[in-house]
Amino acid sequence: MTDWNVLISEVVAGKWKDPTTNKAATVPFEMIRIEDSLDGGEADMIAPLKLGRRIAVVSDVNTNEAMGRRVAKHLKPLGTIDELVLPGNTHCDEPTIALVQEKTRHADAIIAVGSGALSDTCKYATFKDGRKYATFGTAASMNGYAASTASVTLNNGYKTSLPAHAPRGIFLDLKVTAEAPHWLSAAGLGDSLCRPTAQVEWWASHRLFGTFYSSVPYTLIADDEPKMIEAAPGLVKHEIAANGHLHRVLTLCGLGVCFTGVSHHGSMGEHQVSHWIDMFAGPAHPGTTHGQQVGVASLAIARLHHQLLALDRPPLIKPTHIVEAEFIERYGVEIGRMCYAEAKKKSFDRPGAEAFNRKLSAMWDELRDELRPMLMDPARMKAAILAAGGPTTATELGLPRKVWRDAMKFARDVRNRWSFLDLADDAGILDDFLDRDEQ
Ligand SMILES: [Zn+2]
Repeated sequence: MTDWNVLISEVVAGKWKDPTTNKAATVPFEMIRIEDSLDGGEADMIAPLKLGRRIAVVSDVNTNEAMGRRVAKHLKPLGTIDELVLPGNTHCDEPTIALVQEKTRHADAIIAVGSGALSDTCKYATFKDGRKYATFGTAASMNGYAASTASVTLNNGYKTSLPAHAPRGIFLDLKVTAEAPHWLSAAGLGDSLCRPTAQVEWWASHRLFGTFYSSVPYTLIADDEPKMIEAAPGLVKHEIAANGHLHRVLTLCGLGVCFTGVSHHGSMGEHQVSHWIDMFAGPAHPGTTHGQQVGVASLAIARLHHQLLALDRPPLIKPTHIVEAEFIERYGVEIGRMCYAEAKKKSFDRPGAEAFNRKLSAMWDELRDELRPMLMDPARMKAAILAAGGPTTATELGLPRKVWRDAMKFARDVRNRWSFLDLADDAGILDDFLDRDEQ
């Protein structure tokens, strides 16, 4: 039987050190366990976490069926177990967080049984009132289980990553996650395939702006990424091994943050495109999930990277076209102003653009040599998502062409994190790329 916890358990125990700094991670959780099956072992795993005598198990109608009921039953020896089952399709928004706080207020701690949004809801609810929580993941659909931030939709519609806290323990039962609808695993694969695009953009930012960069998140997943891609066809067949390889990459990606304290290694331009869709697609939002959108955006941005890095001379930028009134027209007053304030920080005025062009021209050949090994062939990325049964184009996501175009064009509005979308748009070549790119 495969030991799915190699390297992960060493990092969590503080025994594995960043080879560049010789420092162990600051790990906020006590335990991560990925096993072929956890059925029957729940109480033994939760007991050492000392969560208290009264525990609320929170699931939704789907995950309760898949695992929640079983976890609640097996935890009974530990004390009083309250069960809260949310209606399906949980959104991590302010009303749902308040509901979970209210309904679980008598419990000492929460155990979340679900995937991204449900786990984030319990994470933020317990963070707000200072209680502990642990997570049983029910799908390999995204890499956020280990994150100490929560992706929350505020009452004004702005979706943002808020500081929260990490779970005391993360437990992944591969038999359960393999049985989840295969599109959830394909979404997790899509989320993982942001590695090449995020790495290229994070490294380029580091070289061009002198910002912090660390290679350790990529060292952690280096051996596992090829195995995950090779196993991708097994996701559609609900294979345990394919889910194991995927969960390892997702988990190791989450552990990267414990070394760096930032999310850049797995969240650059491609994530901004997904956030833009979630915030602004409105009635055109097809109900797709984070990982599905990130996968499609990663493919498009990987194609943009290949096109730009094939140029012998660098794309030269003009001062950024950034007008507050246009932001307000696009997003309304409140969110328009928030986005404008963020985007303004990374925008270029004329002297800034000239200095940037000088710097980029001087290092273009060197930078291209540095970035080339970080790229992944978009055809290989696409084949992996296709094999897993996931969407690879905006059309397959169910997004109208215009909304996709806007998402790629304006994704740069939502965050002060420079990406090649900023570079291409300031250089006046993004529209042309989008005219010709597959949609
Ligand atoms: Zn993601």
